[in-house]
Amino acid sequence: MSLRGKTALVTGSTSGIGLGIAHALAAEGCAIMLNGFGDASEIDTIRRDMANRHEVKVAHHAADVSKPEQIRQMIVDTASQLGPVDILVNNAGIQHVAPIEQFAEDKWDAIIAINLSAAFHATKAVLPTMRNRGWGRIVNIASAHGLVASEDKAGYVAAKHGLVGLTKVTALEAASSGITCNAICPGWVLTPLVEKQIAARAGDFKLAIEQAKADLLREKQKLLAFTTPEQIGAMIVFLSGENGATMTGAALSMDGGWVAQ
Ligand code: NAD
Repeated sequence: MSLRGKTALVTGSTSGIGLGIAHALAAEGCAIMLNGFGDASEIDTIRRDMANRHEVKVAHHAADVSKPEQIRQMIVDTASQLGPVDILVNNAGIQHVAPIEQFAEDKWDAIIAINLSAAFHATKAVLPTMRNRGWGRIVNIASAHGLVASEDKAGYVAAKHGLVGLTKVTALEAASSGITCNAICPGWVLTPLVEKQIAARAGDFKLAIEQAKADLLREKQKLLAFTTPEQIGAMIVFLSGENGATMTGAALSMDGGWVAQ
């Protein structure tokens, strides 16, 4: 329990990668503010299960991170319910796939708001207290698409490249205050966000789901294995601990060799 006494806010943690990160931080003793959408009773089951399993306080905030004022309120509410945010993980994200000429403008705006601007607003809101306390960890969940592009993902690739840039600026500005900021750049992780893309591929090419999964990996991820939410959670535990104290401004690939090509 190396992080006992710390408070972590993980955006988009009712599902997928964010949920795996929240479990990993809770297992190290962090109080957790969950955030994200979903069925209220299912979220409450997740919350109670995490609290019981790891014997830590766990709360949920329903802030929509596309709305800056809701982000600011979530950070105030986290401080009053669990303590000031020590570890901020900007994870919430959405995807939309279409060529630029057909890319709906409202989808572009939503992706930039949720995948990029939300991290700026949350970082801006937590930095003053982290500076006063002389310690903080900010981790932005970017993507292999923060480093390289694929077709038909203009909004996502632009937002994730922006998030890697924001990570570097945050790291430099906060370096003298005991605060680090890093980006994690996963390749494919089998979550609802990717399951939708696998189902679309199976439909387009008339493939069984298992074949569509194998094809998806073969195209980009040379290790032919999905990265897991647990592995990403373990990386954040490392970054939050003493051995990660001098790592800052990095874009850390966990992508089975995707961007090595
Ligand atoms: P997911 O769809 O399983 O989970 C997304 C989470 O974000 C959910 O909890 C959802 O409720 C929440 N969310 C969505 N919009 C929100 C909003 N407006 N306000 C608050 N919460 C909101 O997706 P995932 O695959 O776990 O993705 C998590 C992050 O990891 C994203 O930033 C994604 O871009 C990134 N990522 C995913 C993969 C992958 O292969 N799955 C790869 C690289 C990066």
